[in-house]
Amino acid sequence: MTSSDTPPAGSLVRAEIDAAALRANAAALAADIGPARLKCVVKANAYGHGVDLVAPILHAAGHREFCVATLDEAMSLRRLLGEDATIMAWLYGPQTDLDAPLDAGIELGVSTAGALDRILAAAARTGVPARIHLKIDSGLGRNGLAPDDVATVLATLKECAGEERPRVIVAGIMSHFAVADEPERPETAQQQEVFETARRELTALLDSAGGRLGEADDLDVHIANSPAALTLRPVPGTSARVGLALYGLSPLADAQPEDLGLVPVMRLVSEVVNLKDIPAGHGASYGLTYTAEADTRFALVPGGYGDGLPRSASNRAEVSIRGQRFPIVGRIAMDQFIVDVGDTEVAIGDEVVLFGPGGPSATDWADWAETINYEIVTRISARVDRIAVNAEATGGAAATGSVPETEQPTAGAA
Ligand SMILES: *Cc1c(COP(=O)(O)O)cnc(C)c1O
Repeated sequence: MTSSDTPPAGSLVRAEIDAAALRANAAALAADIGPARLKCVVKANAYGHGVDLVAPILHAAGHREFCVATLDEAMSLRRLLGEDATIMAWLYGPQTDLDAPLDAGIELGVSTAGALDRILAAAARTGVPARIHLKIDSGLGRNGLAPDDVATVLATLKECAGEERPRVIVAGIMSHFAVADEPERPETAQQQEVFETARRELTALLDSAGGRLGEADDLDVHIANSPAALTLRPVPGTSARVGLALYGLSPLADAQPEDLGLVPVMRLVSEVVNLKDIPAGHGASYGLTYTAEADTRFALVPGGYGDGLPRSASNRAEVSIRGQRFPIVGRIAMDQFIVDVGDTEVAIGDEVVLFGPGGPSATDWADWAETINYEIVTRISARVDRIAVNAEATGGAAATGSVPETEQPTAGAA
């Protein structure tokens, strides 16, 4: 046990979060997608980057629109950022409490007729009109209103407009693409048509309600995610919900971050904690799935699936030590893995770059693990400290405030 006045040593695996890269990505994206506005998607602990670090950095740089998936995420974000931020969330169930989020000014996506009924009931209790975004299923088949549901919801809204004090403001209409990362496919344009039809119906309703449900001119129309925001020109709608690209990763198979003007924000590092001579024929890790062909040296590195590394990258992934690539040999365990460093000069205490600048990329890990870069960063676990680097704001057009200059690890993840 550490006593309360002893600072914790910090985790062995650390995720350095480059605040300057994050600010630059957000500024570049905001400029590129204009006149559409940037909505910063910080769900799932800011794609594993640590929402407690990421959201305040974006907020201090002048960004005011944030999206998360769940209402728990939305409530934590409200506590983190205060009142001066627009926060929207779209994923909740029939039992989810809506009173507290509506009271906290969280804007809610509406994906079922039942959800709108519950929102109206909650708004009657809180006494504050709920701000909603109709979420249209334009072809993804996931969440969102199917065409029949759209008609039901519009009918309910029409009734609301007739009430003495409408309990709802329609702040936006949204949808989500299925194949925007494959720009040659026709479904993206088809989804935009379905979405546009719903938008026209809603606009007509808002106009006929004479502003009682919100002004049609103020309607926030958003369908673009990262791949759409990077490939569609003009970006459809009045804003775009951008997640992955904010973190400097490419959602497109044929584009690297630098091709898109993006810089990876997370650098995942560990260190060599043991180094040993290994005779030819010696095995490595559980299952002894790797055998040294010749005399060599094994470096032991903290980092395993308990930290979020994919075990499926065993015997495939590489890491960088002293600027040189080395293979991970044998199975990645819960807490540690083995690197075959051969006769290269490596010492205990050397930094090991798992991914990010100076090492392989998160996308390399995705290839090794047969998944996507979204999953590689998002799965980094609570055991890994997130540490802000380059936190000092150096100005820039979007900077409206300063970022805390301390570089303190936030132990654990929200
Ligand atoms: C996650 C998510 C996004 C962000 O997607 P990216 O590809 O990371 O930009 C946008 N909208 C919805 C509905 C999402 O679930």
